[in-house]
Amino acid sequence: MIIQPKVRGFICTNAHPEGCAANVREQIDYIKAQPTMAGGPKKVLVVGASTGYGLASRISAAFGCNADTLGVFFEKPPTEKRTASAGYYNAAAFEAEARKAGCYAKSINGDAFSRQIKAKAIDMIRADMGKVDLVVYSLASPRRTDPQTGELYSSVLKPIGKSYTTKSLNTDKLEVSEVTVEPATEQEIAATVKVMGGEDWELWMQALNEAGVLAENCKTVSYTYIGDKLTWPLYGRATIGKAKEDLDRAAKAISERGQASARVAVLKALVTQSSSAIPIMPLYISLVYKVMKEEGTHEGCIEQIYRLYTEGLYTDTPRLDDSNRLRVDERELRAETQRKIEALWPQVNGKNLFELSDYKGYQADFLKLFGFGVEGVDYQADFSPLVKADFS
Ligand code: NAD
Repeated sequence: MIIQPKVRGFICTNAHPEGCAANVREQIDYIKAQPTMAGGPKKVLVVGASTGYGLASRISAAFGCNADTLGVFFEKPPTEKRTASAGYYNAAAFEAEARKAGCYAKSINGDAFSRQIKAKAIDMIRADMGKVDLVVYSLASPRRTDPQTGELYSSVLKPIGKSYTTKSLNTDKLEVSEVTVEPATEQEIAATVKVMGGEDWELWMQALNEAGVLAENCKTVSYTYIGDKLTWPLYGRATIGKAKEDLDRAAKAISERGQASARVAVLKALVTQSSSAIPIMPLYISLVYKVMKEEGTHEGCIEQIYRLYTEGLYTDTPRLDDSNRLRVDERELRAETQRKIEALWPQVNGKNLFELSDYKGYQADFLKLFGFGVEGVDYQADFSPLVKADFS
């Protein structure tokens, strides 16, 4: 079939197999072109390994450190008539490239919040890898079923305490308008913490530890975003921020229990399937792109994660903040960079969007997440949506 993007609001409902594979290869090439990483991980479990920061973490481990990797994700397989989700194609392409390079690479496609998937991962680690020395927790999900009670929790993206009015970009109509978001209830805050907080990360580490599959020097990392004044009301100090605060508690608990050396890493704002769903983010990221590209400090997922490994996880002099978090967002948060973004924010509207912001770059990166607009791919050519993958 001829595969063209089907975009609905902040999601694209299909994906291009060849475009996704090309994206994965581009990230692999980036890592191969960097100086080799000293002292990196050798056996790695990545939870949330198929897109965004998790995929970049897997690629960095395999191609930067020659590591064996087990990836866990939740992706839609293809049928004769429908393409798979992008993460499915990404993971298939990653596995093929990793195996070509002589690295073990297997994946589990299923709900990481469940006990069954944790048990499956443990079995595969035991059978194929022995023990893991790095666990990357990079899940982003709107809902979670509690494995103990069976109750389904949904997260919300709302301010806390009072309503908040801000600019928002309608990416379908290319209009910038004001939106008011009502404050979350206590129940919504608690549900968001339940989904995106540290509980499931702790459950993974507990299960892996009890099974004896964590190496003695094992590290584990989970990702957060903190941002600055513009995004605080809807992110950092909102429901999702509360959930992210819970990661700090979980990191401390995991380290204190002696399961692994656990850290939260603060990454920069980037277009991913998850961030494009956050009301303020498309416009904010378009301005970040504009300013940081002009400054020459622009980075994508793979550049961020390479720096996380080399300047954070695998160095004796990591950049830590007061809460012991690893920081790789320092370029986005430079006072001068934020000052420029804050100056553009009140001026930007539907008419000057392409001039004042890098919405063009945002849009291109958004489509690229699904394998569209990738150089060298013939989008008029016939491609089968069926791609072979032997995920467990
Ligand atoms: P993403 O949407 O690209 O990736 C999410 C991953 O989680 C995918 O691999 C998906 O398959 C997997 N997943 C979702 N639900 C699952 C489930 N039930 N079981 C198994 N796998 C499941 O998201 P991302 O933006 O890369 O986010 C990863 C982490 O990085 C999140 O914690 C996010 O908050 C954090 N982060 C993101 C940004 C950003 O700007 N994108 C910035 C800083 C931190």
